[in-house]
Amino acid sequence: MTSQRTRERLISRLIEQGIANQQVLNVIRNTPRHIFLDEALAHKAYEDTALPIGFSQTLSQPYIVAKMTEILLSAGPLEKVLEIGTGSGYQATILAQLVTEIHTVERIEPLLIKAKEKFRKLRLSNISANLSDGSFGWEKESPYNGIITTAAPQSLPMGLVEQLAPDGILVIPIGGGSSQELTVVRRLGDSLKFDQEVIEKVRFVPLLSGLSRQFS
Ligand code: SAH
Repeated sequence: MTSQRTRERLISRLIEQGIANQQVLNVIRNTPRHIFLDEALAHKAYEDTALPIGFSQTLSQPYIVAKMTEILLSAGPLEKVLEIGTGSGYQATILAQLVTEIHTVERIEPLLIKAKEKFRKLRLSNISANLSDGSFGWEKESPYNGIITTAAPQSLPMGLVEQLAPDGILVIPIGGGSSQELTVVRRLGDSLKFDQEVIEKVRFVPLLSGLSRQFS
């Protein structure tokens, strides 16, 4: 179920869909996605689908993880990255192997606790994960060379844009309803000018405000 052959099939599928960054493909190939899922779903871990992680949240489809990571890295190597929406911790685990330092925030405490256990087990020491409403970013550690949001706001949160370092890049799904637009915002040099590009239609859970400490 979680064999090398199944993983290779997933990588071939990602290549077919246009993912070209070899580093991204290698990290996805070598990262166990099944450990981020409940045992009952582990057999689906290397299919190219989004899967539930509890609390009405989902681990994104591998193609979307790959696509967003590839876009984020398109401007060159990144030092400091912020992720909004830790969820299972899978996307942060992928990024931690490709950038110097990653900060990730999650609003649902039980998800955050489980993700932190995974980071410890995998000995990923360059991830810092915090319970926080990421609608306003994570100012304490800003500015960031890259920001990735894995939950969709109705419109572009200016607080996030303001936390981009010069030439920084923000990858974010935007919009309400059942589908959103995967959008890239690039800060032009050290100016306060930004370039905005829509990549494709995507499906994400909504970006919500406030914290949730409920365990069921
Ligand atoms: N990156 C995750 C995907 C999780 S789904 C993974 O690899 O598994 C999106 C996550 O965003 C959910 O866990 C949800 O609780 C979280 N989220 C939604 N709104 C948020 C907010 N305002 N601040 C922080 N996290 C948020």
